[in-house]
Amino acid sequence: MSQTYIKIGIDEAGRGPWFWPVVAAALAFHPIHSIPDSLLRRLQDSKVLSESVREELFSELIHYAQWEEPQIFFWVWVVDSQMIDAMNIKQANKEAMRRALIEIQRKIPKEFEIRSVVIDWNDNYTFQELSIKPISIIEWDRKVSEISGASILAKVFRDKLMDTYSLLYPALWVDSNKWYGTKKHQTVLQWPKDVTWAHRLTFAPIVRALSRKPKLLLHVCCGPDATVPIMDLKGEYDLLCYWYDPNIQPKKEYTKRLRAFQKVCEQEWVEWIEGEYDVERFLSVIRWLEHTPEKWEKCTQCYDMRLERSAQIAKEHGIKLFTSTLNNSPHKDMLKMYALGDKYAEEYGLRFLKIPFRKNDGFNRSVAYTKLYDIYRQNYCGCIYSDTFPGKNKKKTSNDWDESNWCG
Ligand code: SF4
Repeated sequence: MSQTYIKIGIDEAGRGPWFWPVVAAALAFHPIHSIPDSLLRRLQDSKVLSESVREELFSELIHYAQWEEPQIFFWVWVVDSQMIDAMNIKQANKEAMRRALIEIQRKIPKEFEIRSVVIDWNDNYTFQELSIKPISIIEWDRKVSEISGASILAKVFRDKLMDTYSLLYPALWVDSNKWYGTKKHQTVLQWPKDVTWAHRLTFAPIVRALSRKPKLLLHVCCGPDATVPIMDLKGEYDLLCYWYDPNIQPKKEYTKRLRAFQKVCEQEWVEWIEGEYDVERFLSVIRWLEHTPEKWEKCTQCYDMRLERSAQIAKEHGIKLFTSTLNNSPHKDMLKMYALGDKYAEEYGLRFLKIPFRKNDGFNRSVAYTKLYDIYRQNYCGCIYSDTFPGKNKKKTSNDWDESNWCG
């Protein structure tokens, strides 16, 4: 009399990748009508088979499962990355196997008794829905045809899902190693924007990409104008604030403004560096333009000098993005700054971010911030030729630039 006991093999694919589902398959052979030996002999752990052989065997297994009286019973269950994140990969893997087992039992005719369930894994799984505790032995998929068959079904099924995904997102190279983490995958997973809905958000490389921010050099012209840009940018960028303002005079005023800027940085926990105080250079770039009105040519030269130096410093620090808080002041010509920013971005191989900080109530927010934290707010632009510089119309002497002689 023919044997009516049946054995189920279970295996999974996609436990290690950073991406998309883990897939489990359960498979059993019909105990009376046997499938050809030629197929049985070729069943091996999917990992030791080439892609083309796996696909061939997958098609043959499906073929025998589709007979009117199936020679093979199987079920495949998929647990997606959201579930993996919610329950952890070990539990998600168990869940995929559990569901595949429940479903295959529905397919196996009642006259056959399920005698054993074998799993190629060293987790000591028990499934409450089954009266039988699965036998779990490492590397059984090379010796037990049911496990080998299940491993091929799970692997090829998952690969087909991944192929679909690679059509949608070719830039992510998901077809390379089916998103089992490689260096190539790491290079396309640099920033939060590279993470898609299908990534496993609890896996370390994805957590790292999500927490990484692009570096941005923010040129700062004064403490009050730095407040809103720092608050608005620090969530999205890894900021380096750069103080480069040799236009500010006298030196006491410069120091006072520098302190205000440092206070904002400390308050907001952002890194900062101080540029040179090369007043002579500033005076040379505005020479013969000193008495032009604010926003005119004198100021264009002043922005030009500071933006070019900011681009140089960004380049020296290996930072690709830069911008300036000069955009925050209603007294500055924003379009001129944008044009200069673009000019130096192109010259130094960077990108200048054109952010109209003064929009969305930027100026009023900065006033509120400086009041709240007692940040010094100046009452003239910076140089002694500023329109509102106290005593602007008195004749300037070299002492007006002196460190100790004047304090705004
Ligand atoms: S007025 Fe302000 S922007 Fe213009 S040159 Fe003087 S410091 Fe620079």
